Amino acid sequence: MDVGNIRENIESIRETIKEAAESVGRNPEDINLIAVTKLHGPEEINEAIDCGIKDIGENKVQELLEKYEKVKPVRWHLIGHLQTNKVKYIIDKVDLIHSVDSLKLAQEIDKRALQHGKIMDVLIQVNAAEEESKFGVSSGDTENLIQEIIETCPNVRIKGLMCIAPLEEDMEKVRPFFAEVKEIFDRYVGDESGRTDFRYLSMGMTDDYPVAIQEGANMVRIGRAIFGARNYRQEEK
Ligand SMILES: *Cc1c(COP(=O)(O)O)cnc(C)c1O
Repeated sequence: MDVGNIRENIESIRETIKEAAESVGRNPEDINLIAVTKLHGPEEINEAIDCGIKDIGENKVQELLEKYEKVKPVRWHLIGHLQTNKVKYIIDKVDLIHSVDSLKLAQEIDKRALQHGKIMDVLIQVNAAEEESKFGVSSGDTENLIQEIIETCPNVRIKGLMCIAPLEEDMEKVRPFFAEVKEIFDRYVGDESGRTDFRYLSMGMTDDYPVAIQEGANMVRIGRAIFGARNYRQEEK
């Protein structure tokens, strides 16, 4: 794909973001666009950065590490499932981990963050639709998990929630899940205890981001609409 396409795609997404935000009276500038770069190489990623992208998301640790040195300075987001034994490889490289869904994982992040003298920003991944195939904590268990992390992980700062909606042809069908996660998010925004710092609601991908924005998302994770279809055969190598 040439630069022209990536540039046009990003412009068109920004336009859609603007329309979705304005349709519910929100400021489009409050929405952070994360370019999801899985299965795309450093060259394409750098093109996207040249087109103004400041945040990129990878869902696999190995892939992130392979690209990390080859990509221009940018904020890195780990958006996929994170195994406890891989935390140590990314702790000093990523700015936000979107996929914390267990106390065990949070405690490992806490331990590694302490070793690096940093506070790690994370989101809690909520599996609102309770799909067996997806990671994430159920809506009902989210507050408990947040409480346990607050109590035992001083080097982890919870910045909000993330959700991956079920795959539906009709994006209206996922609206209730986004609304449910927004409702949990709102319980923590402005948390006066200072023990969480809720700012980010990471919801919405290529197929559903306009609805996610209408329901309150302020981080959208978009891959295909920027870079085109992914070649999954490459992944199997
Ligand atoms: C791949 C991926 C995305 C982006 O999906 P697209 O449909 O390509 O926009 C967003 N979030 C996560 C967690 C992903 O793995």
